[in-house]
Amino acid sequence: MRVAILSREPNLYSTRRLKEAGEERGHTVDIIDTTHCYMDITSSKPTVRYMGKPLPGYDAVIPRIGASVTFYGTAVVRQFEMMGTYCVNESVAISRSRDKLRSLQLLSRKGIGLPRTGFANYPDKVDDLLKNVGGAPVVIKLLEGTQGIGVVLADTQKAAESIIEAFMGLKANILVQEYIKEAGGADIRCFVVGDKVVAAMKRQAAPGEFRSNLHRGGSAELVRLSPAERKTAVDAAKTMGLSLCGVDILRSNNGPVVMEVNSSPGLEGIEKATSKNVAGMIFEYIEKNAKPNKTRTKGK
Ligand code: ADP
Ligand code: GLU
Repeated sequence: MRVAILSREPNLYSTRRLKEAGEERGHTVDIIDTTHCYMDITSSKPTVRYMGKPLPGYDAVIPRIGASVTFYGTAVVRQFEMMGTYCVNESVAISRSRDKLRSLQLLSRKGIGLPRTGFANYPDKVDDLLKNVGGAPVVIKLLEGTQGIGVVLADTQKAAESIIEAFMGLKANILVQEYIKEAGGADIRCFVVGDKVVAAMKRQAAPGEFRSNLHRGGSAELVRLSPAERKTAVDAAKTMGLSLCGVDILRSNNGPVVMEVNSSPGLEGIEKATSKNVAGMIFEYIEKNAKPNKTRTKGK
């Protein structure tokens, strides 16, 4: 097969590993810089052009769209869909996953376990917003944050009110969540390919820190999932319409709760923590599923 990886970062571990794993399995794999693609959407024959030439007909596209280029990146993926090219994650699902509120709303409609969550832009009654998620301690998040930046733990009602007021002053969208203390500063990254969790790791926050992001000094190890955790991750992926994603789960007293679903999950942490060939499993999935004109919108 001829496969394109849409990525702006050819030297990133994830990109390199995908290329390597595809070539090991006998495929031709090109890395295409997403933002350098340009397209002619008026012609009757949609194409994607790159460096002065139309791109060849690919059997599959693996989108690795960074958060900062979601708008243009999803347009490029959509153009491949218009051409009937199989995209491992479709453009609508990628856009959906980039909007935390939209994601939580869709997951809640499907009854998937979530932390009690409130969201607001400019609430008149901050105390009511807090009361609705059970009161302090709460976790307050800036919607635009990634890698744990903009995620704050407020221990007391007063601290929570001050932080929310500060965020309101910034005209930011705010998410307020019950603090899952019993998770003990750990979360579980479930790596989903198709309808299976192919690898999972537990990330533990550094001492004195509640955020388990590896970028915040967290460490990762292999973990065994309970059947409920496995089901939660697979259901979340399905609801989002993502064939390839990372579902982050906290272990709460009420069972697994989903924090977020990432449509371009990194391979380095998970392959190193589990010693699994996750990139190879992604190609195995593509080999079974890549068929032309399979661009029906999934997810709900
Ligand atoms: P980001 O998308 O920036 O990574 P997250 O919402 O995933 O932000 O939060 C970062 C980390 O903070 C999580 O991995 C988790 O360890 C911790 N965390 C987030 N929300 C909660 C919560 N409600 N209760 C307990 N810990 C949380
Ligand atoms: N099919 C979904 C719905 O009807 C799409 C939601 C979305 O992602 O916008 O809600």
